[in-house]
Amino acid sequence: MPDIDTESKPAPTVQVGEQIVVADLAKKLDASAAEVVGKLMQNGVMATLNDVIDYDTAAIIASEFEIEVEPAESKSESRISLKSERELSDDAETRPPVVAVMGHVDHGKTTLLDAIREADVAAGEAGGITQHISAYQITYNDRQITFLDTPGHEAFAALRQHGAALTDVAVIVVAANDGVMPQTEEAIAYAKRASVPMVVAINKIDDKGADVQRTKQQLSEAGLTAEDWGGDVTMVEVSALKQKNIDELLDLVLLTADIDDHKADRDVPAEGIVIEANTETGRGVVVTALIEHGELRVGDIVVAGSAYGKVKALSNDRGEAVEVAGPSMPVTIMGFKDVPIFGQRFVEFDDEKAARKQAGEDKSQHQKETTAVVKSATGGDLLAHIDATKQQNLLNVVLRADVQGSLESVVQSLKQLGNDEVAVKVVSRGIGDISESDVTAAEASNGFIYGFNVGATSSIKRLAARQEVPLEIYDVIYELLEQTKDRLEQLLEPEVIETEQGRLKVKGVFRTTSQRVICGGEVTKGKINVGSLAVIERDDAEIGRGEIMKLQRGKDDAKEVFKGDMCGLELETESKLNLKKGDVITIIKRETIQKSL
Ligand code: GDP
Repeated sequence: MPDIDTESKPAPTVQVGEQIVVADLAKKLDASAAEVVGKLMQNGVMATLNDVIDYDTAAIIASEFEIEVEPAESKSESRISLKSERELSDDAETRPPVVAVMGHVDHGKTTLLDAIREADVAAGEAGGITQHISAYQITYNDRQITFLDTPGHEAFAALRQHGAALTDVAVIVVAANDGVMPQTEEAIAYAKRASVPMVVAINKIDDKGADVQRTKQQLSEAGLTAEDWGGDVTMVEVSALKQKNIDELLDLVLLTADIDDHKADRDVPAEGIVIEANTETGRGVVVTALIEHGELRVGDIVVAGSAYGKVKALSNDRGEAVEVAGPSMPVTIMGFKDVPIFGQRFVEFDDEKAARKQAGEDKSQHQKETTAVVKSATGGDLLAHIDATKQQNLLNVVLRADVQGSLESVVQSLKQLGNDEVAVKVVSRGIGDISESDVTAAEASNGFIYGFNVGATSSIKRLAARQEVPLEIYDVIYELLEQTKDRLEQLLEPEVIETEQGRLKVKGVFRTTSQRVICGGEVTKGKINVGSLAVIERDDAEIGRGEIMKLQRGKDDAKEVFKGDMCGLELETESKLNLKKGDVITIIKRETIQKSL
């Protein structure tokens, strides 16, 4: 069990900037890249060793190696900061708290989030229609609470990425029958680092294996001591499954939230954080955001990173159209022209021209940063860049994935498949379902369409079939890569291997025409067969080449003749060849073998 009590035993520290390449982090941690990639995967982050991860992710991974990170001197200011830098005005009003539910897998986070949702008065009145968006708001005792509904590792990743900017209270779920597990410790360590107050929900108390005292003991070892044990951490025993003590949990969440006065300004341009973004067939770009300040209205102009748009429609967590969304409210926004990146801050702009300009600047800044990362990455990466200028056989791919993270991972993994002879070229990439323009792009580049965890309508599939564009959808990255590797191997020029198979000494020449020689001789080595390649040598120097067209042993035609045989043969030559007695014909066997990567 990793020691998270860093006060008594100071952990070694490494410096990390706002971003770091996975391979570089591995070096700093004195770990293998595979170990670091493995830890990332365990935390729900798909990344290869050349991927760039952010500071918070690096900190979490480092903590797994019992190493602390501290920020390196930042060379560049971030574009639009993740954290709101807005100073509150005197008119700022109290806003609903934002709560994240975290804990070890299978300890009941999803069940708890469902149980909390059922406790919601408004949802009950609306007939319990549940629309899945990645956050929801409930009304409890006339107060609103926003829950981030991204269970499992995703909640952890979401919280990690948006951290203090987004979460006011963390509910740490621990199953009483299982006790404190590695991800429980990670969740605690994270919340501590981000200074987010915690409420512990000791879950599954209905289970016959439940042992609340043992769980509290383990929690105390992990640095959280319950109030009834003389500590200051609020803990509540619940059963998410039987919906027991959910009200108590909500009361404690509100009490904990009220210790800090969470306020927001309404009368300022809207800003918030993108918590989900994709494209949906028929709906275009669909963005879910959590508003932090201001009020977002239909018709407003917004920018998130390099994406901008004019809000066409807004809907709440129940899918109902709304005209306006205020602080702490999760809202689905239609109208972005591009898909913003998960975790990006969005801000309202006065006019479309300024919004477009800001989005454009962000894009070029991002491109610069990406190029800079490639330059500063490993030697292998650099080599890959140089090789790209050589003549390569390229497999063109139009790629679509469900979320930005997996898109980047697939692109990186595809890049690593090639060598100096063949490579994958991603001609176009995007998030969301496969579209008509993907078919056009693939057709124009004679390429393949790959979808990763996305769909394609039957009309798109028909269109692709009509245009003879291969369209493949995968949900396992390994399968996508294996299939691509097979394809690249087929693009490799087959290797030709020549081996000497036999030899004949010319004893007499019967007839010579412009491209044909009929002669006789003795096989001195190996064997000769019809169809083989013949290299003719005189005094150890090659004088011409040809192909064995016919063989005769005695008067009979033969397919092959062997060492010691006297034979007649007909040779087709590239040009007229004055063969003489004493010349040597060497028979070459040619084999082509398919190379592999
Ligand atoms: P998550 O991975 O943390 O989101 O966990 P889930 O909510 O998916 O729950 C994992 C399993 O534990 C499911 O089979 C749930 O039915 C079960 N579970 C969740 N809460 C309780 C509980 O309070 N009591 C019991 N007995 N089982 C529970």
